[in-house]
Amino acid sequence: MQRIIRKITSYFSPSKTQTHPAKPSIPQAPKVIPRSEHGISRREIDKSALDVLYGLKRAGFEAYLVGGCVRDLLLGLEPKDFDVVTNAEPEEVKEVFKRRCQLIGRRFRLAHVRFGRTVIEVATFRGQGKEQAQRQDFFGRKGKQSGKAREVDDSGRLLRDNVYGTIDEDVWRRDFTVNALYYNIKDFSIIDYTDGLQDIKNGTLRLIGDPETRYREDPVRMVRAVRFAAKLGFNIDKSTEAPIEELGHLLKDVSNARMFEEVLKLFHSGAGVQVFEKLRHFDLFTYLFPITEQLLHEELEGFPRMMVIKALKSTDLRISEGKSVNPAFLFSAMLWEPMLQRKQAHLDSGMVHQDAFFAAANDVIEQQIRSTAIPKRFTAQMRDIWNLQNRLSKRQGPRAQKLIEHPRFRAAYDFLGVRVAAGESELKKLFDWWTEYQEKDPVDQVAFANAVEKKPQKGRRRRQNRNFYRKRSQKKSDSSGSTKSSD
Ligand code: ATP
Ligand code: MG
Repeated sequence: MQRIIRKITSYFSPSKTQTHPAKPSIPQAPKVIPRSEHGISRREIDKSALDVLYGLKRAGFEAYLVGGCVRDLLLGLEPKDFDVVTNAEPEEVKEVFKRRCQLIGRRFRLAHVRFGRTVIEVATFRGQGKEQAQRQDFFGRKGKQSGKAREVDDSGRLLRDNVYGTIDEDVWRRDFTVNALYYNIKDFSIIDYTDGLQDIKNGTLRLIGDPETRYREDPVRMVRAVRFAAKLGFNIDKSTEAPIEELGHLLKDVSNARMFEEVLKLFHSGAGVQVFEKLRHFDLFTYLFPITEQLLHEELEGFPRMMVIKALKSTDLRISEGKSVNPAFLFSAMLWEPMLQRKQAHLDSGMVHQDAFFAAANDVIEQQIRSTAIPKRFTAQMRDIWNLQNRLSKRQGPRAQKLIEHPRFRAAYDFLGVRVAAGESELKKLFDWWTEYQEKDPVDQVAFANAVEKKPQKGRRRRQNRNFYRKRSQKKSDSSGSTKSSD
């Protein structure tokens, strides 16, 4: 893919073959790119982030921007947030910013500095351990000593990391080379230990250090690789890519609360469709949405893949238009077909419609939260979005007004639109009706709703579901009981 690097001027030498950078045993001279040779201007840096950088500098500390913000500024993209790293310990950061500063996290202690609604995250350089923390960095500066240790479990997973150090220790703990560039507030230069600038230029995502070890330390790095590759349009370096499929199962050990956060970052990145395709390519989707993956394996007539794709397309579009996105909408779409399948099973076992729906919604939510802990306020909204799908067809007379006042009406209406786009063409008339209704002024809305025929659209979806799931079970038995059909 052709990428235009707006920012980097004269730094790069011709491309060379690279292996993944390994941590050197003695401090190594980084490349320092002076202000005149890169294009990051202070005008593009968030004012609060600059205040934090200057505040730390005035107090005698080192302060750098690091991570996604440096990467994105170099790529000419707007950073999502600005992360600061310093040699000041969290308590010292608190001293500098006093009441603006809150210390958070026990396993990874961090400072949050607040300016109105903006929060700037300030991390202290992470180091290697006691002996190393006492050593000097390449620039002759001393590392900080911390009483708290690093903790690693039997599988190599990093459980706690409050060992402070110097910049040239901190850099090797970061995930990808393109995320390990430091913008120095002292002289506005960029410090590059891992050839991250070259990787930005080449559009390559490369883990720092030995990929397998780094994934074992923190399996979430696998989904981060997918997210950055999709969002930035980068290629994942071969050795970074190679262990993913085999190590994907390690994601099962990550807490479901963290997985929920990661799912939002993945699918609200603005590149949700590519993220979805890549997650499936690496067989990682199954650790995020196992019951959806199960149905995707049994895919028939485009279901449920189209529903997922169309929902993600609509989310990507909203993000590109700067509109808000709702986690409940995402999860409703991902779990819609599994929910319908369960509902059909409950109907077949003799339950009445509404009971079958509630039981099915409970079933799928209960199963899903084992992988991604969905907060209660969102599961309540998911139930509303699903429940309203049925109610939207009953719009005669005053019902329409009541429905439009429902707090989840808009999400339910958008959801209906996604279903139409995904192939449920028989719902198009209903969707268009609601579109027209919303465009009318209140007096005309009454007349419009009164003109709806009373005849309910009885059993349509049910019939359709029956046929769909009947065909599915037929197909399953045709493929001699295998759950993985030929998709
Ligand atoms: P985004 O655009 O999503 O903010 P980001 O690269 O800034 O991307 P953050 O999650 O904000 O990602 O993290 C900031 C930086 O912290 C990263 O760029 C990386 O250097 C480091 N980092 C974050 N998560 C990890 C991790 N799991 N392992 C190693 N380093 C990490
Ligand atoms: Mg960030």
